[in-house]
Amino acid sequence: MGMSGFEYAPAPESRAVVDLDPSYGLFIGGEFTDGTGSAFKSISPATEEVLAEVHEASAADVDRAVAAARHAYERVWRDMPGRDRGKYLFRIARLIQERSRELAVLESLDNGKPIREARDVDLPLVAAHFFYYAGWADKLAYAGHGTQPLGVAGQIIPWNFPLLMLAWKIAPALACGNTVVLKPAETTPLTALLFAQICQQAELPPGVVNIVTGAGATGRALVEHPGVDKIAFTGSTEVGRSIARAVAGTPKRVTLELGGKAANIVFDDAPIDQAVEGVVNGIFFNQGHVCCAGSRLLVQEPVYDEVLASLKRRLATLRVGDPLDKNTDIGAINSAEQLARIRELSDIGEAEGAERWSPPCELPDRGFWFPPTLFTGVSQSHRIAREEIFGPVLSILTFRTPAEAVEKANNTPYGLSAGVWTEKGSRMLWMADRLRAGVVWANTFNRFDPTSPFGGYKESGYGREGGRHGLGAYLR
Ligand code: NAP
Ligand code: MG
Repeated sequence: MGMSGFEYAPAPESRAVVDLDPSYGLFIGGEFTDGTGSAFKSISPATEEVLAEVHEASAADVDRAVAAARHAYERVWRDMPGRDRGKYLFRIARLIQERSRELAVLESLDNGKPIREARDVDLPLVAAHFFYYAGWADKLAYAGHGTQPLGVAGQIIPWNFPLLMLAWKIAPALACGNTVVLKPAETTPLTALLFAQICQQAELPPGVVNIVTGAGATGRALVEHPGVDKIAFTGSTEVGRSIARAVAGTPKRVTLELGGKAANIVFDDAPIDQAVEGVVNGIFFNQGHVCCAGSRLLVQEPVYDEVLASLKRRLATLRVGDPLDKNTDIGAINSAEQLARIRELSDIGEAEGAERWSPPCELPDRGFWFPPTLFTGVSQSHRIAREEIFGPVLSILTFRTPAEAVEKANNTPYGLSAGVWTEKGSRMLWMADRLRAGVVWANTFNRFDPTSPFGGYKESGYGREGGRHGLGAYLR
């Protein structure tokens, strides 16, 4: 999509920095080994080209990975002094920085996210998480969560931030002296495998990190494995519930980071241009594939027309297309299934009577794409207001009073985050006290930092990741 008046010149990032193998094994005990299950392909959602083939880990492969993790835990990692564990984590963090361009390009290829975001947001945060938890490794006695690791952690992550979710899981687990078996999402396994190569390069003791690729069945085998001491899961509320059921009555510990449906609340005294930028960032960052995306916009009535006009103007400037083009704002939807879900819920929104709007926007012929979309005339009972769309779709509602804003914002089974836009500090605090959300952002949105804990209320899960709190999930 171009603004009229000039010829658009693309600025593609080079793929040459990424050196993909045609086929990857499982990373178990420090080596890539063939799986006993079938192979599957990871594609680029922007072009549908096959990037590489990976192995689907069977229950027997998961068993080998857990055994390798157990061995490394008991023989090496558990009793290694914290300062030495920290050195490995610092080394990994530095290698991530050194290889960040390669990692960002591969993340963009495999996931479909814009290279600008992978390069400027995901990778810096990934490195920052490893640096941050490296610093804790020899200071656990001061964190207030005990100093004893749990053992072997089984970790299962989704496709929306493949490397960042890996970092959130692996960095604190290792810093605390646990070893891990991680299962990346079926559609985005490649950067986890490149991370495995970084573990080799860092000479991390074999078995401390194991990566088993596969689909839901591989995840289930990991959850049910009796040799796993802890399950850490990020993904949908539905799968999270099934995991909670599977570990109930076992000694396994569990943390769950699940879905969200955050409200971005704009008061009439807010600086409108700044708020609109925040709203756009809140829902269109990463194609809206963000668990804490600000998918419900609540606007105070006096500024509704102004905010809506300004949003539409801004959306018309968003560039949708090639994720590797450095100018791209919105990349590809991660998979055909996800695209079908976004389309289905959006069609339901229209059928329920909400009004749908997208800027004129040319979408590529191949790959999976969805234009930035607004819904107005949304009521709280509409499914687009209640269910997580997990795509570039914003529902707009209005409110009159702060109490009404709180009531509408909290009227959801989820509670991961919220954004409040107002000039008044006192109102900000009043709102933050009443919003049932793990994070409340004040005049900003989607701001992350490894020192700051993140997690949900209600059906958004339990446990916190990040910060000193995040250590508590991996210590007894
Ligand atoms: P998902 O279907 O729950 O998948 C998440 C992970 O679990 C994937 O690795 C998946 O494998 C695996 N899995 C699927 N079924 C399983 C089972 N029965 N047992 C064990 N593991 C299983 O979620 P998704 O649709 O990929 O991701 C989107 C959802 O994640 C959204 O609802 C979003 O809100 C949530 N999310 C939450 C956070 C947070 O921090 N709270 C962050 C990101 C995303 P496959 O890849 O093969 O399906
Ligand atoms: Mg892929």
